[in-house]
Amino acid sequence: MPEEERSLVGWSRVADSPEMLETIKKQKRSAMGCAFVFALLFPVGFLIAGLFSDEMPLSEALTIGVGLGLFVLTINLWRFAGMDKRAWDGVVVKKLEKRHYKRAEDGYNESYIEYIVLIRTDQGKTKRIVERKWGRDMYDYLDVGDRVRYHPALETYEKYDKSKDDVIYCNVCRRRNPIRNNRCDYCKNLLFK
Ligand SMILES: [Zn+2]
Repeated sequence: MPEEERSLVGWSRVADSPEMLETIKKQKRSAMGCAFVFALLFPVGFLIAGLFSDEMPLSEALTIGVGLGLFVLTINLWRFAGMDKRAWDGVVVKKLEKRHYKRAEDGYNESYIEYIVLIRTDQGKTKRIVERKWGRDMYDYLDVGDRVRYHPALETYEKYDKSKDDVIYCNVCRRRNPIRNNRCDYCKNLLFK
């Protein structure tokens, strides 16, 4: 695709480009590899603990280790299944801040704020993007009324009309780039525009 033809209004064709499909495939392969290694660490770790610690019988250690490993694996497989779903489109209908309190051990109440973007999909469902203060990129990037597409394979969002923006978020590594970029400064992947 000639880069100068890319418009700032409309869904990007980058998502379906051979290069991006290849990137998605590679990312998924390495994420799956990590998930299996990570899941395997639990039984191995508890096996070692069971062998060398007097406080934990080996059988108990193995049961816990295998249990935790399977638990982590299940969560990851569930996540990977979500990545195969189709993209959905919607409109931002509301942005809100929600303060949460949690009791800290020293008796003081700690609080944190969740930044929530509510999106009404074309199918009539409501989706939420929930972020915290230091990662509230989408909360600042999206406005009420914006049309948004979710790319499940990358678990990131794309704005339909990027023409008024100075920045664009990389759909692969999620970092912020100047809108004039065609490739991400950090991971060098094509930006969705
Ligand atoms: Zn990037």
